[in-house]
Amino acid sequence: MKRMKKLFVFALFVAGICSPAFSQGTYALAIHGGAGNVARESVTPEREIEYHEKLREALNAGEAILKDGGSSLDAVEAAVRILEDSPLFNAGRGAVFTAEGTNELDAAIMCGATLDAGAVAGITTLRNPISAARKVMENSPHVMLIGKGAEQFGYEQGLDVVDPSWFFDQSRWEQYREHLRRQQTRGALDVNDKMGTVGAVALDMHGNLAAATSTGGMTGKRYGRVGDVPVIGAGTYAHNASCAVSATGHGEYFIRYVVAHEISAMMMYKGVSLQVASEELINQTLKEIGANGGVIAVDKDGNVSMPFNTTAMFRGFVQSDGTHAVGIFAE
Ligand code: ASP
Repeated sequence: MKRMKKLFVFALFVAGICSPAFSQGTYALAIHGGAGNVARESVTPEREIEYHEKLREALNAGEAILKDGGSSLDAVEAAVRILEDSPLFNAGRGAVFTAEGTNELDAAIMCGATLDAGAVAGITTLRNPISAARKVMENSPHVMLIGKGAEQFGYEQGLDVVDPSWFFDQSRWEQYREHLRRQQTRGALDVNDKMGTVGAVALDMHGNLAAATSTGGMTGKRYGRVGDVPVIGAGTYAHNASCAVSATGHGEYFIRYVVAHEISAMMMYKGVSLQVASEELINQTLKEIGANGGVIAVDKDGNVSMPFNTTAMFRGFVQSDGTHAVGIFAE
């Protein structure tokens, strides 16, 4: 029986649908570590275990908060901080390199109860950009701060400050060198050179939704380029009346199609389910125009949807009925 339930949950996970019947007082948390076209053979079994373990650690940290009656905002921030500190992902430590060989980090957080939001872009010395975004949301009259202004604000707020070398990761550096070589021969950005953005969405026991996303952007991005992640409604959005969404993929498209907000709007104005709205955006709208990526999303009833149109998306979720899973490939 237990095995049957496990199989059932696994089948739902593969289909990107996780929707047990929810009653009040329940919670849900979903996380991602980026989407891209990764060949299964290119990830060694040892590496796969490392990814699974880190995703589980982030889920556990967020779930501990939700289980305790804590807020969805605290849960998504805690989960994202763990992924930012891991060099496995393209956010915080281990971020991809810009054309100049530096790291410039973007992040955003949003509260579905109040529609308050905070975002930062072009960060080079704040260890956890997601916490900087939260400070902008809570302690400033603004929504988005960039570059030196964002960092200055972070220092005033007492956030952890690091030398830019903190974000350096050798394998990312090699990826950057390879990118430069390819650019000389092909002259184009490889959209897979950005994989590993991180994000979290949650519903807490009080019925409040929150979303958080953090990234280093795309390898070889131009100095000053800002992607979808800190653009509220594009890569990050939360509204208690509909859902919370965190995206990953080719940012320019996610901005133009205002993906995260579009999913929420489809639910609110067309009355469609989270799954229908998120699938349509990722597997129809974006797929048709050749835009790679995926989203994780949770609705006000605790349903989770995680569609992606690439071969892989690092992802996982937990729900208060004990359902949980982590995965990388479409399986
Ligand atoms: N969306 C991110 C950006 O364009 C990259 C990613 O999610 O892989 O900055």
